Amino acid sequence: MSGGPTPGGADEQEILVGEAIAGDTELDASLRPRRLDDFVGQARTKEQLALVIDGARARGGAVDHLLFSGPPGLGKTSLAGIVAAEMQADMRATSGPALERAGDLAAILSNVQAGDVLFIDEIHRLPRVVEEILYPAMEDFSLDIVIGKGPGARAIRLPLPPFTLVGATTRTGLITSPLRDRFGYSATLEFYGAEDLAEILLRSAAILGVPVERVGAQQIAARSRGTPRIANRLLKRVRDYAEVRAGGVITDDVAASALELFDIDDRGLDRLDRRVLGQLCRHFGGGPVGLSTLAVAVGEEADTIEDVVEPFLVQQGMLARTPRGRVATRAAFDHIGVPQPHAGDESAFPLFQ
Ligand code: ADP
Repeated sequence: MSGGPTPGGADEQEILVGEAIAGDTELDASLRPRRLDDFVGQARTKEQLALVIDGARARGGAVDHLLFSGPPGLGKTSLAGIVAAEMQADMRATSGPALERAGDLAAILSNVQAGDVLFIDEIHRLPRVVEEILYPAMEDFSLDIVIGKGPGARAIRLPLPPFTLVGATTRTGLITSPLRDRFGYSATLEFYGAEDLAEILLRSAAILGVPVERVGAQQIAARSRGTPRIANRLLKRVRDYAEVRAGGVITDDVAASALELFDIDDRGLDRLDRRVLGQLCRHFGGGPVGLSTLAVAVGEEADTIEDVVEPFLVQQGMLARTPRGRVATRAAFDHIGVPQPHAGDESAFPLFQ
């Protein structure tokens, strides 16, 4: 079932992974939940966050700094926007890699208003010099800047209004502990269950004016890799299919046929997922194999494999990350239809002899 090894070859139909990373279009923005009540699923995080927000409201202060982690497309940016909306404040958004110099962050911080939310996506990619500006800003609401150069340089400390920093990351492990310690609340978003995804799809379909049967939404939900952003993207592809090839209504059959056409299988795995498993099972005898070798074998960035592909395969019990490398499980062999080599059968592991 694998699309076969195409190292370096861009895959035009790679609609899942590419779009899980891509930013919002205008249409996507309309699907974004605005208030906590519109945010489906993640019940525990929602409840805790509601408490943090209510507490801040009651005190009349800014919400504590928040850190959201989890794979792309699970709602981290949406939650940041929701915190701002619930506090009737503005949100300013930037990202770790966009803040190259200390001055970039200083410029943003010197413009924040009391209660504002400053959202930093991919906060684990913040350069060290920028991160150091953030410490006093988060802790004491002050901005330390150096004016001038050489012996005449002097440091001045500017007070900042109380604001809320919301950081988002796909890799909590890469966040330094001094930074992590300065967040008052952190939450890890989990992949969504099929029922929650179906709810999200029904809500999105209503906003987009797409006729969908509940079973149709459930069919899409089951193949959405547990990710709302992917669910919404698939909804749009299925809508195209329904309009062009079927009567316009998304039924169970229409959704299944459309998703087959786009190479998304019944477990929601797309071509890249299957290519990763295919390489692992067919060419590396199930592993263990290092991440960079695997990335080269499928012609993808190691970061994409690690941030986007692997978390879902691990969650599905098809892949294990071990100290010696990535290993395919029996479920992976079964899913792609390759017989699993017997343990101890050396010929099955040509690379490790
Ligand atoms: P992240 O920042 O984690 O990459 P986003 O917050 O940008 O994810 O979410 C991607 C899209 O998925 C949003 O535009 C929204 O349409 C949808 N979405 C995410 N989480 C939810 C949710 N809990 N309920 C409804 N829609 C959601």
